[in-house]
Amino acid sequence: MKEEKSIYVFMGPPGSGKGSLAKLCIKKFGWYQLSTGNLCREHIEQRTEIGKQIDFAIKSGKLISDSLVVTMVREWLIEIFDVTTGIILDGFPRTVAQAEALDALIATTFDSVNLKLVKLVVPNEEIVDRLSGRYICRNNRCQAVYSLRINSVLRPRIGLACDECSDGLVRRSDDEAESVRERLKIYYAHEQDLVNYYRKQQHDIAQVDGTHSLDRVFESFEYLINHRMIT
Ligand SMILES: [Zn+2]
Repeated sequence: MKEEKSIYVFMGPPGSGKGSLAKLCIKKFGWYQLSTGNLCREHIEQRTEIGKQIDFAIKSGKLISDSLVVTMVREWLIEIFDVTTGIILDGFPRTVAQAEALDALIATTFDSVNLKLVKLVVPNEEIVDRLSGRYICRNNRCQAVYSLRINSVLRPRIGLACDECSDGLVRRSDDEAESVRERLKIYYAHEQDLVNYYRKQQHDIAQVDGTHSLDRVFESFEYLINHRMIT
């Protein structure tokens, strides 16, 4: 029997713990996560055809076109599905147009890849609380996320230094409470559009309670997978 291959779309606002859950899935399941930012950088560095076009778009101050992104993502998916059964998308699709592009990409590229939607649910006030204590590695190539909250699994090991690259940690000015609330509003407006789009297709969105510790969140997620409750 052929192994089932799935693309998991992680939904949930910034601070809901998607990034942490993704990291743990990569470690425990050997899945991969799509980072369009990293992909762009790799293409530019290796001077591929796509990389040259991206470089040109950036240098002339234009947006990188959706079709260029889709071409790049398709190539990457084909390559990566040779070595893994699960791919995580975090922060993509962000809009209905991107969701349509993703559907089309899957339909035209793969016979047997399932799209699975998972939403991490965390109340707004908890998010505001989490993000106001959040620090980010100032190294642009790292950008690891930390929290100084007592008992947080994201606390840095040494002072205000990054565990991964030992560069300094900084606070983002837009992590202040008011701007967090503003960002949440914008996020949920986009998310509602996506939810409506997937509802129209009668596509289920599995919900995971994101208020618990990372280990428990992972357990709930694993339970849903093992019991085939993410469809
Ligand atoms: Zn770092």
